[in-house]
Amino acid sequence: MQSGNQVGERQDCAVVIIGAGPCGLMLAIELGRRGVSTVVLEEKAEPSRFPSANATQARTMEHYRRLGFAEKVRAQGLPPDYPTDIAYFTRYTKYELARFSLPSARQARAMVKTLSGSWSAAELPHRVSQIFVEDVLRAEAAALPSVSLRPGWRMVALRDTGAGVEVDAERADGGERTTLRAAYAVGADGGGSPTRKALGLSYIGESGAVRDFMGGRMFAIHFRSSQLYDLLPHARAWMYWAINRERRGFMASVDGRDQFTFHTQLAPGQQAERISDAEAKAMFQQALAARLDVEIVGRSAWNAGYTLVAEKFRRGRIILGGDAAHLFTPTGGLGYNTAVEDAVNLGWKLAAALHGWAGPALLDSYEFERQAIARRNTTYARGFADSLGLFVLPAELEDDGPAGEAARKRTGDHYNHHARFEFNIPGITFGGRYDGSPIIIADGTAPPRDLPNDYAPTACPGGRAPHLWLGDGRSLYDALGFEFTLLQFGAKPPDAAPFRAAAEAMHIPLATVHIACDEARNLYDADLALIRPDQIVAWRGHSAANAGDVLKRVTGRF
Ligand SMILES: Cc1cc2nc3c(=O)[nH]c(=O)nc-3n(C[C@H](O)[C@H](O)[C@H](O)COP(=O)(O)OP(=O)(O)OC[C@H]3O[C@@H](n4cnc5c(N)ncnc54)[C@H](O)[C@@H]3O)c2cc1C
Repeated sequence: MQSGNQVGERQDCAVVIIGAGPCGLMLAIELGRRGVSTVVLEEKAEPSRFPSANATQARTMEHYRRLGFAEKVRAQGLPPDYPTDIAYFTRYTKYELARFSLPSARQARAMVKTLSGSWSAAELPHRVSQIFVEDVLRAEAAALPSVSLRPGWRMVALRDTGAGVEVDAERADGGERTTLRAAYAVGADGGGSPTRKALGLSYIGESGAVRDFMGGRMFAIHFRSSQLYDLLPHARAWMYWAINRERRGFMASVDGRDQFTFHTQLAPGQQAERISDAEAKAMFQQALAARLDVEIVGRSAWNAGYTLVAEKFRRGRIILGGDAAHLFTPTGGLGYNTAVEDAVNLGWKLAAALHGWAGPALLDSYEFERQAIARRNTTYARGFADSLGLFVLPAELEDDGPAGEAARKRTGDHYNHHARFEFNIPGITFGGRYDGSPIIIADGTAPPRDLPNDYAPTACPGGRAPHLWLGDGRSLYDALGFEFTLLQFGAKPPDAAPFRAAAEAMHIPLATVHIACDEARNLYDADLALIRPDQIVAWRGHSAANAGDVLKRVTGRF
């Protein structure tokens, strides 16, 4: 692999990534796997150990599989047989109101081979704390020869010079300074994004939604307790919600043994920094309804109520991804997952631009495609937060007797419905589409309706390549090439030679894969389908006659 043919002699690397969160690390992996020389600046000398995201969606797991480390991620977090139920209680030791039972990691691994329809997939979701995922991503990025991770280095200024970028960085402890010259810079520097601010770009949307819960300032503790499970009278869960009029909160099991996070909403005006450890423990005890002394190992505060998307994702050679480009309320578990998919979308395009096989419009398509998805996903997350936090809790909810029972039934009905709405989301995770993108060749068929809880597999260009298990037990995705793949279906498919010749002439890396079974031909409803490196259907058809035009269009040569 070449290391980026636009990198001039005076450039230190091809791409500087600012921020080593999930977006920056995933982008470094996508670029590094393509031999692009990449420097990742991260102001923190040591990674954060506060568990924030808990949910890795199935689509993200499919990308980890494509890159070869899904199993490493699935081995992290909860023990293999720990259930990933989402359960709702008045208080953790009191009444159970609702439960959505979900498989353990071991069950998920087996189940995925048997599912169809909405959950026809190579991977199922995995409930794992972001700290463990980031450990895997960091190790994968660090192992790539063309990637250099620089923890403890803060970007302080950056400039687009027209021919490249200059990124000023200093050691976060205030010592050394340096200027890196590169072809592109990517701000994956989180919600406060100094890169976005340096570009003068604003977020657009809602930033101050107020709800009884999940709309306001949130306070979180990461704690240890070896006795908590003994105290809980109910079946184990991965996420425990406390629903009462005095203290609402949610608790996630981090390791299935003795580590947990607990999040609750502060009263208006209440400041997280002024909350003592004793007060923090008391908040948790209100949700628990028992006295238990836990060991606080970390504290955090964050805002619920954001539905924000940056007005632009790119200015010249400087590009934004992840939280820098969109900010969520974490209901639905979409922020980190959307950040990873930004990196996936950008990675192959940026590498193609550097390797010289991208047309001028390819990089432009990143903003077109990902900004629309950011608006879609933040809107879904907001809907989940409304469903969760606007439900008015009955006054009798915790009462003994018939009135209390009726109140709990009504509340349980709501949260049983809500749990399936928020946590069974194949439509969101698999159904994101790039319709109207200039590098997608529509074929006149209508895409399915965009629904959060239903996904209809379709090879209508612009969406995820429909998945199936092959006769030899492999996932179709395991058979795809790393860059573009032409799938040929049926016993006697059209000749792929025109595609091979056109790809060779344009230096576009293309694999051809023949899948003979009728099931695949029927699923794709075509004899040929062109799959992008990010496993999106770019084109489908019955003849290779226009191969050159197709390849030009999907690589932005117009
Ligand atoms: C309580 C909570 C629960 C969540 N749960 C989920 C969930 O279940 N699923 C989900 O998908 N998402 C969830 N999220 C959201 C998720 O945590 C974020 O969306 C995700 O971390 C975004 O990744 P990122 O790489 O874009 O940014 P970040 O993770 O914020 O990483 C940005 C990095 O940039 C670095 N940086 C900043 N400025 C500079 C600079 N000047 N120079 C160098 N480095 C810099 C920062 O130190 C940081 O490491 C949750 C968030 C919270 C708060």
